[in-house]
Amino acid sequence: MDLKYTRKNVYKEADGKQLETIYEFAEGYKEFLDNSKTERDAAITAKKLAEENGFKPFSFSEKLKAGDKRYFINRHKNVFLIKVGTEDVAKCGVRIMVAHVDSPRLDLKPNPMFEDSGLCYLKTHYYGGIKKYQWTAIPLALHGVVMLPGGEKREICVGEDENDPVFYITDILPHLGAEQAAKPLSKAIDGENLNAVIGGLPSVAAEGEEEEKEAVKSAILKLLNQKYGMTEVDLQCSELCFVPAGKARDVGFDKALISAYGHDDKVCAYPEMRAIFDCNSPHTLVAVFADKEEVGSDGTTGMQSKVISDVIETIAASFKANPIEVRYNSKCISADVTAGYDPAYASVFEKRNTTFISCGAAISKYTGARGKSGTNDADAEFMGFIRDIFERDGVYWQVGELGAIDVGGGGTVAKFIANLGIDTVDVGVPVLSMHAPYELISKADVYALYQACMAFCK
Ligand code: MN
Ligand code: MN
Repeated sequence: MDLKYTRKNVYKEADGKQLETIYEFAEGYKEFLDNSKTERDAAITAKKLAEENGFKPFSFSEKLKAGDKRYFINRHKNVFLIKVGTEDVAKCGVRIMVAHVDSPRLDLKPNPMFEDSGLCYLKTHYYGGIKKYQWTAIPLALHGVVMLPGGEKREICVGEDENDPVFYITDILPHLGAEQAAKPLSKAIDGENLNAVIGGLPSVAAEGEEEEKEAVKSAILKLLNQKYGMTEVDLQCSELCFVPAGKARDVGFDKALISAYGHDDKVCAYPEMRAIFDCNSPHTLVAVFADKEEVGSDGTTGMQSKVISDVIETIAASFKANPIEVRYNSKCISADVTAGYDPAYASVFEKRNTTFISCGAAISKYTGARGKSGTNDADAEFMGFIRDIFERDGVYWQVGELGAIDVGGGGTVAKFIANLGIDTVDVGVPVLSMHAPYELISKADVYALYQACMAFCK
């Protein structure tokens, strides 16, 4: 018996066959990522995969029975996957896994379009916690939807195909950047300067006609009208955002890591989705892809919405079970990323109580800031339960906090589920450069989280 605890590196422990499995799982994950940059994209991808796995549309008025597989897409942005087990839901509750599929990005302002000095721009309002300087001078893609008058919807995705153009936010050249360089990093880029260049070709006036004002903007609007049937005012009824253009890429000569946009929190959504597809379990399983986590989880599609309770109540009603009892006996893994230890920024971590890249699924007993404020603090009994099922199935896992005391902190959706009276704990993946346009994770950890979800579903 080991009296001392030592953290294990998955890659050190894995044999050749396990390594192959880990790398193979990563291929599916990268494909999911490339198709799921926004919550709307993720909902479309999840629906497609759910249908391929035999899931059918869910209805609040249906009576579910053991063996049923259902998907519910709440307002295009929030996904529920439900797999009904044979066990008594009143006595055993449901097993819930939650991850969020929104990621920090640049949303368009409602009146975004303007022209200045021969260029046409779209103004943005950033969504979630970003370091603004990271979003300039990189290729951006535009994703989202526009509503035309009368309810017709146009989907827009430009910048992902290699033949597509991309969009671009400028920064000042270093030669003239002395004043900017002297500012604190958080002030170096003004939020009102996060304007993306979307064109530079003016329409030319026909002979005899007067030259048009804002000729580039006019020409762009003409292009948009030809392609999408839209006019400028339609942008006021749209949800469009700029995300980094390009695909997930392997990192390192050994390809042990993946760099991509939106690991937070698709790196947890994908394993939880795969687990609900792959696991044959007597438990009733629910996997949730939440929206709005990066801005506080409010609204119809965030985890503070009542929709999760409604889903549980529908399951309870199907078996004439008391929904209160079902919730009380339910268990939840709130799957979200945490800050992996980064030796370049060692001072913000406390090395004994942080998670390390490639050391497996990362459990955070609590989150919060300033003396654990605003946290679900999973109780010892539930931690013991989680430890036992992970050990039973040989899951690589580690525990840690997000950073050293009083350096900062962060929350997850765990508390919103726990507030419903459901035992909940944060289990996720350590990430380096979290919230950057390209974040870094280890293939070993995304696979470890899949094994953790499988153990939880079993
Ligand atoms: Mn997150
Ligand atoms: Mn986040």
